[in-house]
Amino acid sequence: MLPLVALVGRPNVGKSTLFNALTRSRDALVHDQPGVTRDRNYGVCRPEDQRSFVVVDTGGIAGEEEGLAGATARQARAAAEEADLVLFIVDGREGRSALDDDILRWLRKAARPTLLVINKMDGVDEDAARAEFARYGFDDVIGISASHRQGVDDLLEEVYERLPEEGDAEALDEDPTRMRVAFVGRPNVGKSTLVNRLLGEERMIASEVPGTTRDSIAVDLDRDGRQYRLVDTAGLRRKSRVDEAVEKFSVVKTLQAIEQCQVAVLLLDATEGVTDQDASVLGAILDAGRALVVAINKWDGLTTYQREQAESMLARKLSFVEWAESVRISAKHGSGMRELFRAVHRAHASATHEFSTSEINKALEIAYETNPPPSIRGHVSKLRYVHPGGSNPPTFIVHGTRLKVLPESYKRYLENFFRKRFKLVGTPVRFIFREGT
Ligand code: GDP
Ligand code: GDP
Repeated sequence: MLPLVALVGRPNVGKSTLFNALTRSRDALVHDQPGVTRDRNYGVCRPEDQRSFVVVDTGGIAGEEEGLAGATARQARAAAEEADLVLFIVDGREGRSALDDDILRWLRKAARPTLLVINKMDGVDEDAARAEFARYGFDDVIGISASHRQGVDDLLEEVYERLPEEGDAEALDEDPTRMRVAFVGRPNVGKSTLVNRLLGEERMIASEVPGTTRDSIAVDLDRDGRQYRLVDTAGLRRKSRVDEAVEKFSVVKTLQAIEQCQVAVLLLDATEGVTDQDASVLGAILDAGRALVVAINKWDGLTTYQREQAESMLARKLSFVEWAESVRISAKHGSGMRELFRAVHRAHASATHEFSTSEINKALEIAYETNPPPSIRGHVSKLRYVHPGGSNPPTFIVHGTRLKVLPESYKRYLENFFRKRFKLVGTPVRFIFREGT
């Protein structure tokens, strides 16, 4: 499982600024797609050469708010109590406050490993700021400026020193014979109904995969002679409705499952369409670069007219992931399962295909000659060659010159050209452009 890091602190110290600095993907193309939303409190930090971890912005943690705010605060506490590491954020400009003291008391009770982070170190006397918080008694104190992205890399180093080692769970993921599939979606779309049906159908050939202390995180499923590992199934089956906080907290599980799977099946509820929450799960899948199948569940409950309405709405709302296949299913009645698994296999095959350098250079050459990049203010990009940059998602590294003036529209053209030529469905495709040879 991905480690969990919680940002804790009073309002306005810069938690959400730091959250964004940690979780925004470097690839703006991926990040800024229209129609995709992202959860403002839960995200994944993916440093280039280190293990990823889940980041939770716990929002306000101290208050005894009621209603919605109360639920948010409870979630925040639940997240911090489960975290592998808490970053206690304070404001270097304003110094200590009574609220900081309250939070510290609460953190001591929660007893999680905690690092003190003094933010807004830009333009303040750093020694004075450190002295101000010295009485909190932390051995290690990191000063940063989140809004200037200063000190964030040092902070990351400190974080890694404190995160748990990769455990057996990760080793279990490496079983190459099993395709790792995650069924994800917001509460009530039918995930447990679907998973239980799949497992029941197979007369419990499914067995829990041992190896984690907290929760069993996967279940194996053999179906039609194929082997699957359903990621985070324990979280699905043993769901608790006792506390909204716990329910919402499963966002962390969702992010972890997405990270661990090869193919994410996004469940939608046909009777409710695509909600903001659906869109943010989709955003997480795209950020992770996972293969995707959209399963529109509860298709049984719709009249013909409603089905037509649903079709046109889905086509509109999902137009930016045209490459993903969508299937209509009923988890309740078990219909659409064959189509679902076929789509999963197509997505997996596309996502994990190994390309030869010669076939992709041939493709680049044809794409280039059919439609060379346009001249931009007298400058023209030259594309020289391409080499494979890995799979899942398929990644192509294109070398050339004057790539700064290569228009986004041309990048999309290349992507579509490659998709068509290599019949890539159900997976994102990444192009990385490198100046020079
Ligand atoms: P949160 O309530 O803890 O999530 O705080 P925000 O991230 O919303 O930040 C509160 C305010 O502090 C915003 O106006 C930010 O622009 C500002 N801020 C955040 N980080 C820094 C920083 O490193 N230096 C300065 N000077 N301002 C910052
Ligand atoms: P989860 O929160 O995503 O795990 O959703 P559940 O599996 O608990 O399902 C939520 C509700 O939707 C339950 O009342 C299910 O009986 C119902 N449900 C699930 N799948 C279907 C379906 O295919 N058709 C219909 N009509 N209802 C379904």
